[in-house]
Amino acid sequence: DSAGNPIGIVAISRDISDKEEIQQKYIEAKEKAEEADRLKTAFLANMSHEIRTPMNSIIGFSNLLTEEDLTPEDKAEFIRHINHGSETLLSLIDDIIDIAKIEAGQLMVTFEPYNLREMMDELYVTHAELLKRKGKDHVKLILEKDQLPGSDVVLTDPFRLKQVMTNLLVNAVKFTEKGSITYGYKVTGDFLNFYVKDTGIGISPEGLKVIFERFRQDNRYGIKHQGGTGLGLAISRHIVQLLGGDITVTSSPGEGALFSFIIPYNAYHETVKDKRKGRDSTFNMDWSAKTILVVEDVESHYNYIRSALMRTGINMLRVTSGQESVDICLNDHQIDIVLMDVNLPDMDGYTATGKIKAHKPEIPVIAQTAYNQPGEEERSRKAGCDAYISKPVKLKELLDALAGFLDNQT
Ligand code: ADP
Repeated sequence: DSAGNPIGIVAISRDISDKEEIQQKYIEAKEKAEEADRLKTAFLANMSHEIRTPMNSIIGFSNLLTEEDLTPEDKAEFIRHINHGSETLLSLIDDIIDIAKIEAGQLMVTFEPYNLREMMDELYVTHAELLKRKGKDHVKLILEKDQLPGSDVVLTDPFRLKQVMTNLLVNAVKFTEKGSITYGYKVTGDFLNFYVKDTGIGISPEGLKVIFERFRQDNRYGIKHQGGTGLGLAISRHIVQLLGGDITVTSSPGEGALFSFIIPYNAYHETVKDKRKGRDSTFNMDWSAKTILVVEDVESHYNYIRSALMRTGINMLRVTSGQESVDICLNDHQIDIVLMDVNLPDMDGYTATGKIKAHKPEIPVIAQTAYNQPGEEERSRKAGCDAYISKPVKLKELLDALAGFLDNQT
């Protein structure tokens, strides 16, 4: 008023919780972006290291192979290094493809009968060898086998199940300097429980929270970085979930780690037919009375197939295009089987197969593709192919596929 006394108060209040919330979200988004950026940089550095290491040994040892005066032992040793480097690179590429498939929701599992004991024994041989190669023979590898009620054959995705176990075992080997690595499986109710337990460096509580996420590793101060890309466990977890289960880890620093996963126990009862199907292929096949047509445009791929099949004595014809394969099949009566590359320069392998089958349905055609995409097998069958193998073709797989047809022909 005129005397200067207050006669009222005007208060304005504004609700800023929205603004606060937006600000908080902004801070979180910024932190996330910075974290992603850090991860990307670390991932690229790791990836570069993971590619260079095997690449160096492939290039280095191939150069050494050209030297004169090498003893057969030297050569065998160099070739072992080159092979090992190539396998390491291939498994890295497989991991990257798997992660891409997971992101695209395209990683699939296919179930078939599989003998778990055989898988466990195979894993033993490979990882005992790995320990030796890494100079860790003193670390004990222990396989605990639980006899399943009934047979050890279960319905699962053999390739993917083995991939998960391999990943856990390779990690155990990597992070264990002394003591032991114990692995196995047991039946728990309706589930199969697989485990890999080591006495290695263990994992920090922070690490436990993130290691199943892609690119994430337990980077602890004072612990030597062991390489790797941080993809293996992310892929493993996804596969286990696709198989209907879940994966867990318990560990603390210096106390080793226990990774275990469960998947539904689908017992499978073998029939006589399955046993025949699962027989081991030997390298003593005699197919000297047979003729194979290899349709392959890439020289190095053809050379591999030729070397792989040499010891079977099979007669080999080769063409480099789809059209030629059709011409030769329709005009030459000697062809017992066709190994058809799908990706050809002119007519693709599926179209060529369709044309061959239209006139000569009795000639078995095995498709080979480099795609390994879901649905590829289905596509090849629709095109009329009798079987399908994906590149890089493993020798045993190739021989098994061919034997399935050639040994049954009269
Ligand atoms: P990579 O081994 O290529 O880094 P993984 O996804 O397989 O990728 O593993 C992620 C991380 O989890 C590893 O880098 C390591 O820090 C931790 N880890 C996995 N297995 C073990 C183990 N057996 N012992 C200790 N740490 C492990």
